[in-house]
Amino acid sequence: MTQEKNSIIIAIDGYSSSGKSSMAKALAREIGYRYIDSGAMYRAVTLYAMRNNLIDEGIVDEAALIAQLPLIKIDFKVENESQHTLLNGEDVETEIRQLPVSNNVSQVAAIPAVRHALVAMQQKLGDQKGIVMDGRDIGTTVFPDAEMKVFVNASAETRARRRYQELIDKGVSATYEEVLANVQQRDHIDENRSESPLRRAHDAVNLDNSSMTIEEQNAWLLDLYNSIINRL
Ligand code: C5P
Repeated sequence: MTQEKNSIIIAIDGYSSSGKSSMAKALAREIGYRYIDSGAMYRAVTLYAMRNNLIDEGIVDEAALIAQLPLIKIDFKVENESQHTLLNGEDVETEIRQLPVSNNVSQVAAIPAVRHALVAMQQKLGDQKGIVMDGRDIGTTVFPDAEMKVFVNASAETRARRRYQELIDKGVSATYEEVLANVQQRDHIDENRSESPLRRAHDAVNLDNSSMTIEEQNAWLLDLYNSIINRL
């Protein structure tokens, strides 16, 4: 267990469906830190926009969404050891993981005003340290001074295969081809947006987990944490 004086910020960034959330969650549980899934916040804003007819065939009504940002409240609650995302008090955890939200989220996440609002919330969540946050820009923009930064990647096909299996296991209907197309589309938008695009922070440690088991990647992450904390 970590001593208070050594509490740090851990930023885990990477591509869609690279397994970063599972690793981040497992590490947080192991070391007694708070886990925050920043992607869930972008997904919740996207669901709000969809429900309020602010997205039409992938085109977001940016002005209307920006005007309504103050009406969107995002919280997290932990239930049976798993984290649930609340949108204005409603548990939307299942809905935000479905393909309709996945297909629109990168467009919403590319809007600078949306990013500014969510980055400010994320920074507030980390002001006491002792946090593991995963996303795309945590090590570059949200917490550029994080003591531990990891950048996770795996081939698009590996990531799509994992994501497809997860959806099927959850009983969500999808084809491998549509999941692969969604992963590739999100990679493209995330890497090419003008506001904090998906990039490895220069001081992040790279992890390609294409041929690692979940146990191996969790052990790798815990070793890295221990080596960093021992140097503090
Ligand atoms: O992590 P997840 O795949 O759930 O994130 C959904 C989407 O939210 C990403 O494809 C990306 O467009 C956006 N996102 C982001 N910055 C973050 C986290 C997620 O732009 N920090």
